[in-house]
Amino acid sequence: PQPNPQVGAAVKAADRAHVFHSWSAQELIDPLAVAGAEGAYFWDYDGRRYLDFTSGLVYTNIGYQHPKVVAAIQEQAARMTTFAPAFAVEARSEAARLIAERTPGDLDKIFFTNGGADAVEHAVRMARLHTGRPKVLSAYRSYHGGTQQAVNLTGDPRRWASDSGTAGVVHFWAPFLYRSRFYAETEEQECARALEHLETTIAFEGPSTVAAIVLETIPGTAGIMVPPAGYLAGVRELCDTYGIVLILDEVMAGFGRTGAWFAADLFRVVPDLMTFAKGVNSGYVPLGGVAISQKIAETFARRPYPGGLTYSGHPLACAAAVATIEVMAQEGVVENAARLGAELIGPGLRELAERHPSVGEVRGTGMFWALELVRDRETREPLVPYHATGEANAPMAAFGAAAKAHGLWPFINMNRTHVVPPCNLTEAEAKEGLAALDAALSVADEYTR
Ligand code: PLP
Repeated sequence: PQPNPQVGAAVKAADRAHVFHSWSAQELIDPLAVAGAEGAYFWDYDGRRYLDFTSGLVYTNIGYQHPKVVAAIQEQAARMTTFAPAFAVEARSEAARLIAERTPGDLDKIFFTNGGADAVEHAVRMARLHTGRPKVLSAYRSYHGGTQQAVNLTGDPRRWASDSGTAGVVHFWAPFLYRSRFYAETEEQECARALEHLETTIAFEGPSTVAAIVLETIPGTAGIMVPPAGYLAGVRELCDTYGIVLILDEVMAGFGRTGAWFAADLFRVVPDLMTFAKGVNSGYVPLGGVAISQKIAETFARRPYPGGLTYSGHPLACAAAVATIEVMAQEGVVENAARLGAELIGPGLRELAERHPSVGEVRGTGMFWALELVRDRETREPLVPYHATGEANAPMAAFGAAAKAHGLWPFINMNRTHVVPPCNLTEAEAKEGLAALDAALSVADEYTR
C-alpha cells in the first residue's frame, strides 16, 4: 500500500480527541497510527515498517492476517455471525474439542470467556465454590488481568490503584534466582526455599481458608521467569496435600509461546483449572476461557454454575480458534517456536549479552524471552528503578527509540525488554530482529556504570 500521511494524521487526530487508552495518562501518550500489518510486520501511514517483536500484546502467535484464519472468519460471518451461548453451535463445539484435545491431563471441559481477565475471574469463582473456601494465593511479579479480582491477584503496580484490601488474595514470592528473595545461589536452593516459603504461607494463612493457588506457569509481563525444575510439581503436591485448587494461568504462555502447546507440558504438571486467551486464536477476535478438570466439572454437574457471558463461545471467535489451531498443527508453528528459540534466538541473545554490559541476564524458552537490563552487572542494579516514570525511565525510553529507529518494535516493561515475536517467525526475521536489538543495546550500554 502507498504511504498516506494525510489519512494517518486524521486517524491520529480522532484517536487523540476521543479514544481513552488503557493504563495511560491520556495527554502523555503519542500512539502510532498503524496503516496495516502482515505476518511479523506492521507499518504506519508514512510507509515506515516495523518488525513486531511484541506480537501485539504477546498474542499474535501466528502473526497478523494469516490468510486461512481470515478466510475462516469471513466464512463464519457469512454463515452465522453470532448465536446465544445456551445453544450447541458448530464453531463453538469444534473449538472446545480441539482445545480439550491439547490441554493437559483431564482438562476436558471448556468454559469460554471474552479474554484473559474474565477467564481468571471465573477460574477463581469455580475454585471458591468447589472448595467452599474464601482465599486465593498468588505471586508477586505476576499479571492476571485488569478486572477487579484479576487485578487484585496481580503482583505488580497495576494492582495498587484497585487494591480493595477485600479481594481475598494473599501474595507470596515465587522463585526468581536472579533477584532471589531467599538468598539462594543455585536453582535447587531457590526451588526448595520457594516451596518452603509457600508451604509456610499456607500454614500461617490456614489451609482450610485457601481455595486456590494461582500462578502463571511461566510469568510473562512480570519478566519471563522460567521456574526451576521441580517447583511446579512441588506446588502441585502442596495443593494435593492441603486440598487447594491449582489454577495455572496460561493466557500468555499458552498456545505455542513456550515451544509447547502449553507451558504446563514443559513441566509435566496438570492443574485443576487452566486459563487461556490470546494465542488461542491469535487475538483475531476476542476469546478466552477456562479448561476444567473432571473433579471440578463434577461439582457443577448437578448444581448450576453461577456465572456466564452473553458472548461465551462467540461463533466468530471460535471459528478463528478452530482455524488457528489447525494452522498451528499443519504448519508446525509450535515446533518452529521450540526450534528457533533453542537454536537461534536463545543463542543469539546470549551472544548479545556477552558483548553488551547492559544485559544482566537472558532467560526464556521458545518464543518467550526476557533481557534484564542493568546499570551494573555485579550489583545487578536495574537500568531504571522499579516502576520508574519520566526522567527516571530515560534509559529504557532511549533503548526503545533506538530499536524503533532500526525497524524493530520492542516489548518493554520496567528494566526489561522481552523478545516475544510470532511463533511462526522465520530464521531471516529472527536474525533481522537480533541485529536491531544489537544496535539498540549499544544505546542502553551508554547508561551502564
Ligand atoms: N493473565 C495473563 C498471564 C496475562 O498475560 C494477561 C494479559 O496480558 C491476562 C491474564 C489478562 O488477559 P486480558 O488482557 O485478555 O484480559
